[in-house]
Amino acid sequence: MRMRKSLGQHMLVNRRVIERIVSYAELGDDDVVLEVGCGTGNLTAELLKKCRVVGIEKDVRMIEKLKKKFNSEIRLGRLELVHGDALKVDFPFFTKFVSNIPYKISSPITFRLFKHKFKMAVVTYQREFAERLCREDNRLGVIARSYCSPEILEIVKPSSFRPKPKVESAVVRIKPEPLISVENKELFEKFVSFAFTMRRKRMGKIVQEFNSKFGFSIEIDSETSKRRPEELGAKKFAEIVDDIRTC
Ligand code: SAH
Repeated sequence: MRMRKSLGQHMLVNRRVIERIVSYAELGDDDVVLEVGCGTGNLTAELLKKCRVVGIEKDVRMIEKLKKKFNSEIRLGRLELVHGDALKVDFPFFTKFVSNIPYKISSPITFRLFKHKFKMAVVTYQREFAERLCREDNRLGVIARSYCSPEILEIVKPSSFRPKPKVESAVVRIKPEPLISVENKELFEKFVSFAFTMRRKRMGKIVQEFNSKFGFSIEIDSETSKRRPEELGAKKFAEIVDDIRTC
């Protein structure tokens, strides 16, 4: 028997998990779902029962399989397939984002999603990534809070995938309702990113370095200056940045 070349991709095969993912998205007739990385189309099929779907898939072999499997849905205009890299092609119009994404693009695809208008996203991530997204002791989680409210809905065991991955996964619901408000988003992201590259240092030192490197004059109270970035929380970061005056 010839071995198929491994793609390093894990297909979600547990029907009950797939059905729950679809129900979390609360899809109505009017919704248009964007699915990134349709793979063999297990999730796609379940989504198509509820509404129109646009899928972006990079692997041409998968595209060929999907075209056969969903021949009639494509003809009816219920499914549209885009062959391309979801990090590069323009996102088509969609109202909700539901995907078991390829884990290696978790971070860039999530930030890409944040730049779009959407009603809700239900995304299956690697568990570790999902947990970081939902906490506020790291760059990803802090910045995410300025765009949305993320929430882990369930943990998915490796046995729900084929082939079985080594790690656990988690289904996250993302509502586009920011948990914190920030006036200067660009500066917020720059400052938060800077702080977390020096996570061992205290905020006093970090602010000093940020000021001298970029010409700002941020001032923080002595209590805050003793803390490390991971102890600050998203709200405090936002307050600091919205206080910034350029020199
Ligand atoms: N959603 C399917 C498959 C998940 S595996 C399921 O749940 O079973 C991830 C899929 O994403 C694979 O089919 C892979 O070819 C595709 N993929 C990987 N990188 C991609 C990218 N940058 N853009 C679009 N699709 C990608």
